[in-house]
Amino acid sequence: MNYDVIIVGGGPAGLITAKEVASAGYEVCVIEEHQEIGYPTKCSGLFSVSGLEYLGLNLEPHLISATIRGGRFYSPSGKEITAYSDVERARVVERKLFDKFLAREAARKGAEIKLKTRAKGMSIRDGVNIRVKGVEGEADLRASLLVGADGVKSNVARWNGIKTPSKIVAAAQIEVDDVDIENDIAEVYFGRAYAPEFYGWILPKGDVYEVGVGVGRADGRGPIEYLNNFIKNHPIAKNKIQSSSILEVNLGAIPVDYPVQTVRDRVLLVGDAAGHTKATTGGGVITGGIAAKIAGNACVKALENENYSENFLRREYERKWKDEIGHELKVHASLRKLFDSMSDDDLDVLFEVAIEEKISDLMVKYRDTDRPSEFVAEILKKDRVVEVIQRFLDVESLM
Ligand SMILES: Cc1cc2nc3c(=O)[nH]c(=O)nc-3n(C[C@H](O)[C@H](O)[C@H](O)COP(=O)(O)OP(=O)(O)OC[C@H]3O[C@@H](n4cnc5c(N)ncnc54)[C@H](O)[C@@H]3O)c2cc1C
Repeated sequence: MNYDVIIVGGGPAGLITAKEVASAGYEVCVIEEHQEIGYPTKCSGLFSVSGLEYLGLNLEPHLISATIRGGRFYSPSGKEITAYSDVERARVVERKLFDKFLAREAARKGAEIKLKTRAKGMSIRDGVNIRVKGVEGEADLRASLLVGADGVKSNVARWNGIKTPSKIVAAAQIEVDDVDIENDIAEVYFGRAYAPEFYGWILPKGDVYEVGVGVGRADGRGPIEYLNNFIKNHPIAKNKIQSSSILEVNLGAIPVDYPVQTVRDRVLLVGDAAGHTKATTGGGVITGGIAAKIAGNACVKALENENYSENFLRREYERKWKDEIGHELKVHASLRKLFDSMSDDDLDVLFEVAIEEKISDLMVKYRDTDRPSEFVAEILKKDRVVEVIQRFLDVESLM
């Protein structure tokens, strides 16, 4: 079968790319190995309001489980910062339904979606040849371009010798029915005993809650062990989590470093496959979605010009996503390096200074968590904050 573009991966990045390509009238096929779009879920579904608006996603109300107006952050020793205002900052979205919504949008523009079909290998000669295995057995599909939207362990990246971000966080999350937190505040917990080199979280989701941890440093214990420890032993969180019944378990990995390379001749990487995630929070749907729109447009340009070279794709895709979100992703990656190099005591000192300097006011003012550079520029005007940070990181890397 011949297509203009084949996309491996039916997650948000692949589906948003597909919609862009199909909207321009080109033949696009999304290959998804699972039998259902959106399943298994590996996400909390927390998306910024500004990001959803930027992507032009008018979500139907039943997709939205909660509206988040603030964040509460706990230091390793329990110091607390709350940043809250009446403004709607983020939505907690039912990710399974969200992905299906994106799939519907892409399909209505003409994209074909092949479920239960796994991409097994590829070759490039006068086009891209993709070997797939699906319900009807093995077949070869051909296209002018291939988009790797196949997530954090991207095979498309591996097949093309593209290095993907080296730092990966392993995450585990459960959905439970009874937690004692406000219904519009996301809670974040730092501390190496519970979530080394990442954080733990509790998120309200309508009439249920999500409780999770990410683990950025492997020490033989997996994220589920860390999650159990967080739920049972964290001095603050354990008193809030009252459920004994688990309604859902999500396990996954998150790339938390700046993307290395995202194009080759006839090949583009997008979303987690490329590393388009925020290295601070691990959120990747909005930033991956922004890159996906650019990837879709780049595919259209390449098809119009019949130019599929790495140079063309670098100009039309890699440079453009870097212009749009590259600096912000770099700031996220530098902040991740900062937090990873701080001990629990260091983080407590940072919290102390942040509380005294009323950083929560700035968090309220600069609430776009996808694009933290303005917030960071403001806190770098505070000498005491810089004093703490510069012991761990070249402050220039945050500018
Ligand atoms: C526990 C957890 C919580 C998270 N919470 C949030 C959050 O609140 N907000 C947020 O923005 N982000 C969050 N993230 C990150 C977010 O889930 C990812 O950034 C996002 O899913 C990336 O989208 P994607 O389309 O790039 O990749 P994915 O969603 O991973 O989709 C890739 C798809 O490719 C398919 N695939 C892979 N290989 C093949 C193959 N060979 N053939 C066919 N199909 C293939 C997979 O089945 C998958 O469906 C979270 C991640 C985890 C693990």
